[in-house]
Amino acid sequence: MELKNSWLSYTAEQKEELEKINAQYRVFLDNGKTERECAAFAAEAAAKAGYKNLDEVIEKKQALKAGDKVYCVYMGKTVALFNIGSDAIENGLNILGAHIDSPRMDVKQNPLYESDELAYLDTHYYGGIKKYQWVTLPLAIHGVIVKTDGTVVNVTIGEDESDPVFCVTDLLIHLAAEQMEKKGAKVVEGENLDVLFGSMPLEGEEKDAVKKGILRLLKEKYDIEERDFESAELEVVPAGKSREAGLDRSMILAYGQDDRVCAYTSLQAFLDTETVKRTSVCLLVDKEEIGSVGATGMQSHFFENALAEVMNAMGEYSELALRRCLANSKMLSSDVSAGFDPLYASQFDKKNAAFFGKGIVFNKYTGARGKSGSNDANAEYFAKVRSIMEGSNVAYQTAELGKVDAGGGGTIAYIMSLYGMNVVDCGMAVLSMHAPWEVTSKSDVYEGYKAYKAFILD
Ligand SMILES: [Zn+2]
Repeated sequence: MELKNSWLSYTAEQKEELEKINAQYRVFLDNGKTERECAAFAAEAAAKAGYKNLDEVIEKKQALKAGDKVYCVYMGKTVALFNIGSDAIENGLNILGAHIDSPRMDVKQNPLYESDELAYLDTHYYGGIKKYQWVTLPLAIHGVIVKTDGTVVNVTIGEDESDPVFCVTDLLIHLAAEQMEKKGAKVVEGENLDVLFGSMPLEGEEKDAVKKGILRLLKEKYDIEERDFESAELEVVPAGKSREAGLDRSMILAYGQDDRVCAYTSLQAFLDTETVKRTSVCLLVDKEEIGSVGATGMQSHFFENALAEVMNAMGEYSELALRRCLANSKMLSSDVSAGFDPLYASQFDKKNAAFFGKGIVFNKYTGARGKSGSNDANAEYFAKVRSIMEGSNVAYQTAELGKVDAGGGGTIAYIMSLYGMNVVDCGMAVLSMHAPWEVTSKSDVYEGYKAYKAFILD
């Protein structure tokens, strides 16, 4: 079964739209390197597009009706947008879902130490990473430090051209004979992912003078004490902006495209859709990379609660109506697919792999080994989704995550399927997934955007 490369099918007008979507996508990537930043970006874009804040709707006891649009942000890290349709809400929702957290290194709660007149920040990696990929790169720090009086200090260091950057050092090759014999998982160990943070001793200090110099700078710049790290969420990410990749500029190289490529295209398709028949929802969630846990992960009830509030404001809420609405819903649960990499062809089943330039990728199931942990979409539902894609000329392909027994992975699909709704996994193909810099195809980004738009309008 041969699928045509999408690039060959575009008109000049489509190419222009493709470039526009990708340029906007890069703005999202450059402004959203953490879940908090992505959530804030989405909320701001929603407000600009005329969405009301659900908290305000609740507080002012406002009524909602068909044609209204609302959004809510939960703990600053998870977002839900609703576009209320003309159909009865009990008939179900069209839901787009993607995650906005990405693999990275989190600063520990007691991170700052000095060793041999160098200051370090100790980190704990987040999500699945090849640790050896995160050394010697310019790194930035994004996040918040919350003081005991409730003040939230926002931190972004390393993105502005004039900012300093950080790095994790690695052993020079001349002394690495022993290191180079180690297995990949042990070449760089988790406890060694400490960020080099300073080297200038504070004058007049005898002990830990470099650390003291750092603490003085932190006090001057952010008015924080060492213990304030205890209530901080500081994320260490690759420094720098997204770039076009390839001489033909057909790809994008950027940090955090898993899963922001799906999050952005879902959000943009959602915001670009004026009115809908079925009430539509766009969910951008946190904590997928560590199992969708916590209050801001998909396993939390925040979405169910928000939906209950929306139905209540519509005068449609009852426990039964809520359950019917959820069970009658259909969802595209979007997360990236491992793009087929000719350099590592042996790890893929080429007939069931995701290729650049072949459109959005559908995974009927994910999981590991014997589909363990998978949602495994219903054939009837996937046929329906195919017909939506074909009806809107969206390029799509189907794939599995690598060869059977090569590994595996999960998404948020199985959690939403607990409501009894139809869910299928989909997303764009990514090369070097979970590496500091990941690659996507611009044409797939465009097809994803088209796919989400078609799905909401169905
Ligand atoms: Zn993902």
